[in-house]
Amino acid sequence: MTSAAVENIAVTRFREYLRINTSHPNPDYAKASEFYKKYADELGLTYWQVELPQNRVVDLITWEGLEPTLPSIMLYSHTDVVPSFPEHWKYDPFSAHKEENGDIFARGAQDMKCVGIGYLEAIRKLKTAGKRFKRTFHVTFCPDEEIGGLTGMIEFVKTKEFEKLNIGFALDEGIANPGEEFRLFYSERNVW
Ligand SMILES: [Zn+2]
Repeated sequence: MTSAAVENIAVTRFREYLRINTSHPNPDYAKASEFYKKYADELGLTYWQVELPQNRVVDLITWEGLEPTLPSIMLYSHTDVVPSFPEHWKYDPFSAHKEENGDIFARGAQDMKCVGIGYLEAIRKLKTAGKRFKRTFHVTFCPDEEIGGLTGMIEFVKTKEFEKLNIGFALDEGIANPGEEFRLFYSERNVW
């Protein structure tokens, strides 16, 4: 209990998010949406949804900039995770077990719930420090990336709502690197 009492809020929120079972084939997107809404309220940000065909939604948390007509920054992540086979796991993949050394075990810990929480906790710190930025940030949570995005991002980019976001630049997942460096997927001008 002592370690839980002193746990960083970012870690606590991360573990809460990891415990929501958004694994295919039946991701609990409704529970994730509730989580995002509560999170937005906690951070004093706007939560909203865009409805997609096939009963899917995109969840967004928006931090409006001082010059909201400027192209915005999209901080993208996907809500879903791939299936797990619990019998091969040291801990229940949706328990978000934390070992004494701080290692957290969960389906989604690397891919990519860490990133979604990272965006929001970075915003928490910046807001708390009184920072404001010219551009609007849209923290965007999409469904169905792990099954190809056909019912997720591919539909989202066709919507009027997406167009209105006026995105100038977007961040999305990278991949873990066992060494000291970070890996960055780089592209410019056009997709290769
Ligand atoms: Zn991913």
